[in-house]
Amino acid sequence: MKAKKSVYFKTFGCRTNQFDTQVMMSKLEDSILTQEEAEADVVVVNSCTVTNGADSSVRGYINALSRKYPGTKVILAGCGSHSKGESLFADGKVFGVMGHSEKEHINEILARPDRFYEIGDLSHIDTTIVEEFIGKSRAFIKIQEGCDFACSYCIIPSVRGAARSHTEETVLAQITKLASNGFGEFILTGTNVGSYGKGQGSSMAKLLKKISQIRGVRRIRIGSLEPIQIDDEFMELLSEPWMAKHLHIALQHTSDKMLQLMNRRNDFASDRRLFETLANAGYALGTDFIVGHPGEDESAWLEAVERLVDLPLTHVHAFSYSKRDGTVSASMEEIVRGDIAKARHKELTALVAEKNYQFRKNHKTDLEVLLESGKEGVFRGFDQYFNRITIQSSEDLSGNWVFPDKVTVAESGNTASLM
Ligand code: SF4
Repeated sequence: MKAKKSVYFKTFGCRTNQFDTQVMMSKLEDSILTQEEAEADVVVVNSCTVTNGADSSVRGYINALSRKYPGTKVILAGCGSHSKGESLFADGKVFGVMGHSEKEHINEILARPDRFYEIGDLSHIDTTIVEEFIGKSRAFIKIQEGCDFACSYCIIPSVRGAARSHTEETVLAQITKLASNGFGEFILTGTNVGSYGKGQGSSMAKLLKKISQIRGVRRIRIGSLEPIQIDDEFMELLSEPWMAKHLHIALQHTSDKMLQLMNRRNDFASDRRLFETLANAGYALGTDFIVGHPGEDESAWLEAVERLVDLPLTHVHAFSYSKRDGTVSASMEEIVRGDIAKARHKELTALVAEKNYQFRKNHKTDLEVLLESGKEGVFRGFDQYFNRITIQSSEDLSGNWVFPDKVTVAESGNTASLM
């Protein structure tokens, strides 16, 4: 009998790509998974193409691989297959190219004797729902794929396709199974999570209500929402006990000039109203923010900072703009120098860190903490406001919910002792 081929997966990019690699791994039947590149007959490169830098990393990896292991077959998968697959295939750099929709056929694809280019389509949604577990109690569930927005700087819609969602039935069945196995917190993720259910007669609010009715579900978090996706039905859920009291709402900027250049669907006046309403309802609020996008001159930045100072914000994912060919932003003028973008990034993160510190000082009682794993008496977890807390205990509290009554708040983070 012919020995099974061994396959190594190399994953670049975001959490979605990591999920996709898991889908492929779960479909292997006639090959063996290896953790060692050197032992592999085939390397599947699950690529990222989000910036020009990401493209070069993937290309660099493939070149180095062919030099080190000239006999190894390289298969290109992931977002890069949709942007760079054709040229890498034509140049003979890869043995085969497979698009996103082909992931679940990986077993058959690996059996192909001849070179192939299977780009598939961008309207497919996998039948496999992927979960990722943190400790024994929190699970990420990918409920949606793709995006219908057209932000100027982003290549995602052209490599991941339009928004489409898993059906409610599939998501609910998966969560029911995990909840009965002891998982209490669920984090809903996807490319543009807030578009869940669009065109399928559902919505984020509808799904949340149904998930909350599942026995064992204690807290639900949403990976990220766009401001315009927060509708009245969603607002009615704000006081529900199972809603994590932290929302991540992607603003990307607080200067209207920049929001327009970025072709965003939000504007600052309504963003401010939304944030104030949510903060008054007791929510901690995080956002994504891109600094250094073309056109961010001194006055746009000063305006943005002035607005940020007033905004009830507690967390930020700050990104420095990075050019991506094929996007509208890539051909914009008024480039921001790297050192300026770096200084702005620093200013922004320091400003929000201070806001977070003030928030924690005002929210140190009635914390509901779900601890992840820990060792030697030190456990880490998050409270309902998505603030990390370190807890000391002589008991093994991994995966437990705890309610510390004496919390010490420092700039570097919250701590408590349950000794
Ligand atoms: S919302 Fe904008 S940034 Fe996010 S994936 Fe869609 S196009 Fe890209």
